[in-house]
Formats: sequence, structure tokens, C-alpha cells
Amino acid sequence: MSGRNQLPVGGIDLGATKILSVVVSHAGDVLAEDIRPTEGVEGPDAVIANMTASLRQAMASAGIDRLAAVGVDAPGPVDYERGVVTEAPNLPVWHDVPLAPLFSKEFGAPCALENDANASALAEHRWGAGRGSRHMLFLTVSSGVGGGIIVDGALYRGASGAAGEVGHMTINARGPRCGCGRRGCLEMYASGLAIARRARRLVARHPDSLIAMLAREQPLTAKLVQQAAEDGDDGAEELINAAGYDLGIGLGSLINIFNPQMIVIGGSLTKAGDSYLGPAREAAQRESFEQAWQDVRIVVGELGDRSAAMGAAAVAIDAVRGHLAT
Ligand SMILES: [Zn+2]
Repeated sequence: MSGRNQLPVGGIDLGATKILSVVVSHAGDVLAEDIRPTEGVEGPDAVIANMTASLRQAMASAGIDRLAAVGVDAPGPVDYERGVVTEAPNLPVWHDVPLAPLFSKEFGAPCALENDANASALAEHRWGAGRGSRHMLFLTVSSGVGGGIIVDGALYRGASGAAGEVGHMTINARGPRCGCGRRGCLEMYASGLAIARRARRLVARHPDSLIAMLAREQPLTAKLVQQAAEDGDDGAEELINAAGYDLGIGLGSLINIFNPQMIVIGGSLTKAGDSYLGPAREAAQRESFEQAWQDVRIVVGELGDRSAAMGAAAVAIDAVRGHLAT
């Protein structure tokens, strides 16, 4: 490898509300990071300028002026081969934005693009809780449910790069309508938005409960439900338990299909701990075949909010190693 290839790589995580940039060594050490608002309402040009400024700031903090490669991850579907964000559900007017070619030119280095959940899966597999596993599934459970699939040590992208949408696995074809247009997706039961939706009904039925009192002062989010549960609201606790159980129904199907060694779960709902993950494990065991259940470990991710940005850096390292044409 030439000297340039030994340089650190950059990873940029484009989120709906914030941009997180990291400069990472080939061994996975984070040398510097920068975080700033996305300002998505300003449109793609402004967001791209924010992303550029963010990575440049991280480079300055790390004391370097060149990178071996840049990786970028974006929410929603990406055209991995062309490096184009086809659409970003939470960013208005994002259609066919050629992020990888733009950043390749800007930073004078190869640039690779990946979907955010796939990036997190790669990072947890390479540097986090999934280290050493050959077959690993990653699920992120926050406002929505996303996922990534590692088979034989490599990210499984599918025929068109759309694999891993575990949040849109149908668990009840007659269930509530999902944001994707279909009915009864896992995301409609196990996500933060699902908990918030059920909490609105709970509040209406029990106006004197703790959660109802809290909801008069703050927006009724999954985080508020978690807080109420921790403070002893039994109804709120049951909502978290139910969402966890429903996640487990999805996990059971995934275990039967993939027979993974490890399922790594990240995202804000993991902060609810056993209230969420206990029922998830219980349902997963019920729904999966005995042998597959015996061989799987369900663990919480180690990389937290950095997982996607680090995964973007992992994709950049793969680009340096020639796994990518860009
Ligand atoms: Zn859906």
C-alpha cells in the first residue's frame, strides 16, 4: 500500500437532525469527531456544506489535512454502487443526490456511501459488540426500526442494495398502516413511535396517571414513557414491555431464517434495559427453533450514537482496500 492508504479515514453520519463526523484509524480508533445540526430544511446544498465543514473540523482536531478515503452514511435507501442518495425520508427535497462523487472531489479521496443501519451493522461487527462473529444481525430501535445483515463476515446488501429492512417485516397484515404504506410492519409495534402512539391511548384512558400528568407538560414521546415507567407508572412499564415483546416476535423470525450467532441491538430504546429487552428475549425464544435459539446471543451494541459514523469509516477503509470501484 502507498503512504496515502495508511492515512486515517473520515466517516460522516448524515442524520435527520444532526451530522456526526469522525476521523478514524484503520484499527478503529476514533481520533477526533465533530457534531453539528443538519439544518435539513435548508435543502441539500446547505446540508452538504455542513457535512463538509463538519469533517474538515474533525480533521483539524485530529491535526491532519489528508484522508485515505471518506465514507458517508445516509438515512433511507442509497444507490451504493453509484454513491447516490436516492431519497431520504426525513430530509425534504432529497432525490438522487450524488453524495459520494461530491465528497470524493471535495476531499480528493475515494468516497463510499452506505445506508445508516447497514453502516452501524458493519461497525458493530468490526469494532463493537459483534466482533468475531461470522453471522450477525444488527437492529437499531429508536423512533423507527432499522437493521443490517452480516453473513459470512460481510454485509449482505441483496440484489439491489435494499436488504436489511427488518423494521418493515410484516408481523400483522391487518395491523396499523406504516409510514412505508403497508400494514402491520414490525416498526408499527416495536419502535419508539409505536410506544408513543399507544401511550396516547393510555393517557386518554387514565387521565390521573403519572404519564398523563407528565404529558401535560412535555411532548408524549417514548422517552417520556420510559421516564414514567422508571418512576413507577405501571401502564407505561407495560407499554415498554409490550413493544419489547413485539420486537422479540420479529427477532424469532429472523433467528429462524438466518440462524445468526449474534444479534446486536442498538438505538435509544435499549436504554430501557430489561423492561424492553427482557420481553424481547422471551418472545424470541418462544418464536424460534430450539437449536437456533441455543446458538444465538442477543446483546446491546457497544458503539452507541457513533455506530453509523464509524460504519461509514469502515466502508471508507473497504474502499481503500479496493472493495469498491469509486
Ligand atoms: Zn413499513
